[in-house]
Amino acid sequence: MKRVHNFNAGPCVLPKAAINATIEALRDFSGTGMSVIEVSHRSKEWQAVMDETEMLWKEILNIPDGYKVLFLGGGASLQFLMVPMNFLEKKAAYLETGVWAKKALKEAKGIGEVVCVASSADTTYNYIPKGYAIPTDADYFHITTNNTIYGTEIREDMDCPIPLIADMSSDIMSRPVDVSKYTLIYGGAQKNVGPAGVTFAIVKEEALGKMSRYLPTMLDYRTHVENGSMFNTPPVFSILVMNETLKWLKSIGGLKVMQQMNEEKSSMLYNEIDRNSMFVGTAEKASRSVMNICWIMADGYKDKEELFMAFAKERGMVGIKGHRSVGGFRASLYNACPKESVGALVACMQEFEKLNK
Ligand SMILES: *Cc1c(COP(=O)(O)O)cnc(C)c1O
Repeated sequence: MKRVHNFNAGPCVLPKAAINATIEALRDFSGTGMSVIEVSHRSKEWQAVMDETEMLWKEILNIPDGYKVLFLGGGASLQFLMVPMNFLEKKAAYLETGVWAKKALKEAKGIGEVVCVASSADTTYNYIPKGYAIPTDADYFHITTNNTIYGTEIREDMDCPIPLIADMSSDIMSRPVDVSKYTLIYGGAQKNVGPAGVTFAIVKEEALGKMSRYLPTMLDYRTHVENGSMFNTPPVFSILVMNETLKWLKSIGGLKVMQQMNEEKSSMLYNEIDRNSMFVGTAEKASRSVMNICWIMADGYKDKEELFMAFAKERGMVGIKGHRSVGGFRASLYNACPKESVGALVACMQEFEKLNK
């Protein structure tokens, strides 16, 4: 197999160990003589995977008692609707830090009153707004911790006077998180904890069941809490890969180690962007993401964008084209992206500068 450096934004690079274990389970799952995609989800072998996956979440993320980890369908995009349905009685507050945040806000508007406390839309979301006031009479405050498209990130668990809800699709499991500060954390698995097809939701149980509206069965978190995420047939394949990805994460030492590795990788690339006179970072420095690194050609070199893209492609770089709404380049350095790949990208940028400046 040809080796490439995979910087895709999601779906994205996954640990080799997880992929190899998945291949084995596709052949013969847990000694059952069947593929994992053939077994009954009611079998004891499958139940063991469900139980272990929730345990791994709780252990790795140090989730306190009183929270359930759910595995759902519909992507983070369906959570944009499930959140207000389950938590918005009168009014909700949102921080608009990108198009994902904006999409979440739009769904909430269909359910009730929404206050947008601050937005960085004026500068194409290249920073995280500060100094805004959170209305204390709102039912919850919704944030997007990592803005995948713009490369900005809220990297601290804020103190919030009202229930805090976070879309952590693209930075979950990249650092330790104080889960007790959140009422709900959700995201699509395909950025940092698995393949597409499964959505995680870490929910504080005591916060559920407070709405006066009718909740459709599948959109009620309680349905999934009560049925251990198996009210209907779960996405077994995606959950299995997630399970193997979490096992890998645990084996390398967990989130403190992961955080250090991630900071090391992102520093390598940011240092090169800041040093290299042909490139310039797009996110404000104080808001820079550790997961998605965005940059463009510097003034005077704008006409070299396609040239660099082709140059990098020739050297095995995959997925470094910036999102169509911002242009330029983006490298996603998720957990499973090896340091060697970042080193190769940095070397490629240095070589390009030598040849083209
Ligand atoms: C990718 C992404 C989403 C959308 O996730 P889906 O699972 O495709 O619905 C939402 N929020 C953030 C921050 C993302 O990065």
